[in-house]
Amino acid sequence: MSGILEVQELRVQFKVGGSLLAKPRTLHAINGVSLSVARGEVLSIVGESGCGKSTLARTMLGIETPTYGRVLLEGRPIGDYRRADLAAKIQPIFQDPYSSLNPRKTVHDLIAMPLLVRGGMARREISRLVTDTMELVGLPRRMMHSYPSAMSGGQRQRVAIARAIVTRPEVIICDEPTSALDVSVQAQILNLLDDLRRQLNLTYIFISHDLSVVNHISDRVAVIYLGRIVEIGPVEDVLHNPRHPYTRRLRASTLEPERGVRLPKPVFQGGFPDPTNPPAGCHYHPRCSEAMPVCQTAAPGALRVGHSTVACHMFTGLADDDEDLNPESAQIAAGQET
Ligand code: SF4
Repeated sequence: MSGILEVQELRVQFKVGGSLLAKPRTLHAINGVSLSVARGEVLSIVGESGCGKSTLARTMLGIETPTYGRVLLEGRPIGDYRRADLAAKIQPIFQDPYSSLNPRKTVHDLIAMPLLVRGGMARREISRLVTDTMELVGLPRRMMHSYPSAMSGGQRQRVAIARAIVTRPEVIICDEPTSALDVSVQAQILNLLDDLRRQLNLTYIFISHDLSVVNHISDRVAVIYLGRIVEIGPVEDVLHNPRHPYTRRLRASTLEPERGVRLPKPVFQGGFPDPTNPPAGCHYHPRCSEAMPVCQTAAPGALRVGHSTVACHMFTGLADDDEDLNPESAQIAAGQET
């Protein structure tokens, strides 16, 4: 599989705070991320709130501008695309279908919007594509002139999905697409996304904090902590045999309760650190029960362990081939996989 989307040494920083008396501080939202997504693949990005996963998604969409590094779509920097051409190839589906749809537009007009922005199509052709796409996502034709306020949450998310695929894009960025929905509707939407991926050969970047959803839909998973990828690999390795201490804690803190077994105790030590003043060395060291002296001063490089890539000093000397995949830049916590 060839890489359709490449993220190369990406850094995204924001200035925050600042007043007459105080200088603004720099928030390191993304701190050296590299990854490659193959055509037709589902790569999930997981981590706690504030870890940078939504900023990463917005940068892949061209909404945020990198401070350093770049994003390539089909080998071409996304900044080189015309805005409308980029939107035809990469589309988002956001968490909240209630706020992402204009309440004054009909279903037809909402779904037709990306086609109108791209231009060059007759009204009849647009209406035919809208009708075909409504059928693909399971929306009855009679809803074409309905408004979002008359629809259920699941129907609204189907409209949002129809709008995202109506230009037949290559890549969809799904940012928590089921978290605002009832559990029963979540499964329907996940199954729909899965079906559409096969039918249209879509590539998904799937942002979520829900590991059961991630387990259901992903081929690979990237775990992100304070703007760095700490572990990336096949879903069965990362979620079922996690190596990095943070992935193990994340996994343990979101275990599903079993019949007759009490919920696990929260296992994270300390709070989430301040991203304007991240800890030196391994960002995770103040919360890590495995931390060693070296962890406080040196950021771990990315090491191949089994089928995964892990950024943790525990694996130095134990990694496959004893090879540091990224020896020149200890800040870059994870590299590309084959
Ligand atoms: Fe823990 Fe050190 Fe590994 Fe960071 S590098 S996760 S502090 S053991």
